[in-house]
Parts: sequence; structure tokens; C-alpha cells
Amino acid sequence: MKGILFVVSGPSGVGKGTVLEEVFRQDKKLKFSVSATTREPRPGEVDGVNYFFVSPEKFDSMIDNGEFLEWAHVHDSRYGTPRGFVEKTLNEGFDCVLDIDVQGALNVMKNWEGGVYIFMAPPAFEDLEKRLRNRHTEDEGRIKERIETARWELTKVKEYDYTVVNDVVEKAAEKVRAIIEAERSRTGRVDLRFD
Ligand code: 5GP
Repeated sequence: MKGILFVVSGPSGVGKGTVLEEVFRQDKKLKFSVSATTREPRPGEVDGVNYFFVSPEKFDSMIDNGEFLEWAHVHDSRYGTPRGFVEKTLNEGFDCVLDIDVQGALNVMKNWEGGVYIFMAPPAFEDLEKRLRNRHTEDEGRIKERIETARWELTKVKEYDYTVVNDVVEKAAEKVRAIIEAERSRTGRVDLRFD
């Protein structure tokens, strides 16, 4: 594979999406892997852009046909990374970013050679709780569940190659960009032609 696979994960509410939006705004060569999910779209989300919103039956058939690089139950829904897009993108020489949960990232680590794993962490645990409440997308029970999941997810940080603390979005995006550029500059990845 010619491109680099970047896997970004971190607890719900850490602000991954906002940081990645900034990274994509600045780096036009990066491709985002759009996941399939069985959850309902939130206001403003577009099918095929944020996610492929699919029925549980369609998701089952995608599993049966081996279409996923990984998939996981996250909260009340299922989410999966379509394998075809990732392989095609990397083969064409583009770098590809997955925004997936920790279970998914641990599965990719087992099944994929050579990915780069970035964990996005909150500055403090209380920040997560605050952010989850402020976005008003989940009810109290769901917020509690996400906090419990986040505690488990934070224990997996040591499995990742890099940790980025999201204190200020622009600074976190700058760090992710720096990691991407450093990985692109690894000896062996730079195509030197000295004829
Ligand atoms: P949300 O529903 O808030 O968009 O996403 C919930 C969680 O699912 C986030 O942590 C997000 O990174 C994760 N997620 C999104 N797509 C995938 C995927 O394809 N696979 C896995 N394992 N997790 C995903």
C-alpha cells in the first residue's frame, strides 16, 4: 500500500470531529473514510458525507460479505469501516484517516500492518462530562454510559503511537498535522530519485 493509514480515536465528547475538520481543511491530500452506521442521522448530517446511514439488515449483509475492515457496537448502534474505500485510497497513494472508537482501533491494530494510531484525550476527565452535556445530543442515561465507556477507553491509550490532548482545537489540529507530516517524512516513505 502506498498511502498511510491514520487511525484517530478517543472518548465520545473529546472533540475529535472538530479537530479533524480543521485538519482536513488544511490538508487537501488526506482522505476521510466514511463509515457505515445503523444510527439515525443527527440534524445537519448528510448521507455519504458524515456516514453511510444503513438499516440493521444492510449492516448484517455488509458483515456477511466481508465488506468491513472492522466494525463495532458503539453505544446503541453499530459502526463499521468499509474496507474497499480504504484499500483503494491507500493503493492510489493517498493517506487515509479513520475516525473510529477504541474497540475498532484495537481490531485494526490486530489485523492491519503499518497503521499510525493517534489517541485524542481530554485535558481532564471532567471536561468530557461537560462537553457531553453541553452538546445536548444525549439524555442523562446515555451520558452516564459514555462516561463509563470513556473510563475504559482511557486505559487503552498506551496502545497508541501518539497522544494528542485536545485543549484548544487549533493547537490539537496542529499536533495531528505535525504527526501526519512526520510520518510522511519517515525514511523509506520519501520517494528519493538520485539518478
Ligand atoms: P457518533 O455517533 O458520535 O458519530 O460516533 C460515536 C463513536 O463511533 C465515535 O467514537 C466514532 O469515532 C465511532 N465510530 C465512527 N465510525 C466508526 C467505525 O466505522 N468503526 C468504529 N469502530 N467506530 C466508529
